[in-house]
Amino acid sequence: MKKYFLFILFNFFAIALIAQSNNSKQGKYVLVIHGGAGTILKSNMTPEKEKLYKQGLQNALNAGSDILKKGGTAIDAVEATIKVLEDDSLFNAGKGAVFTNEGKNELDASIMDGKTLKAGAVAGVTNIKNPITAARAVMDKSEHVMMAYKGAEQFAAMNGCETVDPSYFFTTQRWLDLQEAKKEDSLKALHKDSTTGLLKQPDNHDYKYGTVGAVALDMNGNLAAATSTGGMTDKRYGRIGDSPIIGAGTYADNNTCAISCTGWGEFYIRLVMAKTISDRMQFAHESLKQAADDMIMKKLPALGGDGGMIGVNKDGNFVMTFDTDGMYRGYVKSDGEKGIEIYK
Ligand code: ASP
Repeated sequence: MKKYFLFILFNFFAIALIAQSNNSKQGKYVLVIHGGAGTILKSNMTPEKEKLYKQGLQNALNAGSDILKKGGTAIDAVEATIKVLEDDSLFNAGKGAVFTNEGKNELDASIMDGKTLKAGAVAGVTNIKNPITAARAVMDKSEHVMMAYKGAEQFAAMNGCETVDPSYFFTTQRWLDLQEAKKEDSLKALHKDSTTGLLKQPDNHDYKYGTVGAVALDMNGNLAAATSTGGMTDKRYGRIGDSPIIGAGTYADNNTCAISCTGWGEFYIRLVMAKTISDRMQFAHESLKQAADDMIMKKLPALGGDGGMIGVNKDGNFVMTFDTDGMYRGYVKSDGEKGIEIYK
């Protein structure tokens, strides 16, 4: 009888131990977001504006962490987070998208699930209220990864994404930004750095940025990443940046990390930024921080580009790296640690 009792007791403790170790392995979540990198200086910011940006970032973190804390998936969390930022006119995505040279708004977005390596993206859409939901629909409801312009709009509408009149995306600030950019003439504004001979952006190019991104680790150890943007002010000829390109602006793989980038897109495409960071972790056994620091602080400026990125790895370690004056950014972790920052 005593033996039997001891046996039951042993099993009880063994089960409790296993449950506890599962919890500590899987029970944590992390959500990291950005709202664009660029020449964001405290001296150019009013306290009121700073408060609005921080509130916008907080709202987005709340939407994503509400899902994660209930045991929801990383992919649902990043989509919900991005939707909030897309609906906030302060950020260059969704409602606050910048204008093209022709005075239109052409929006790009992408999303990737690190568990399945499934991904979806849309580019150049003009009437989808939340392009990230269209990217998710491409991932979930088609055999494709990327759709663009009219076809993407048609597919998104057919799959229940909310459509709006393109005038929905008009905001006075972005319209004024376009006039400013046109005055500068973007081609003339790109000049050569006298010492390196490389193309440089003008110092006041920050109005071109404001892309939003989110990366998450959920309680089941799954990673996901999402990015959404209006692209760069004054863009022409159907220009598409890195944001909707899987491997450049967005990438997620449960074995390595989830990444969302923001910055001068052409350079991110050429560096295949997000996937290169993941590859360096997988094949060169670098940490997320080592790989991100080298790519953003060295490789990117060496080509003449600038910007930032956020990333989280499978252990929940995260980075918010940028080589610009600032990057709107924030994070929240299941242990209660959180933060929202703007400047260097
Ligand atoms: N990467 C975006 C693009 O080039 C812009 C940004 O991040 O602000 O379209």
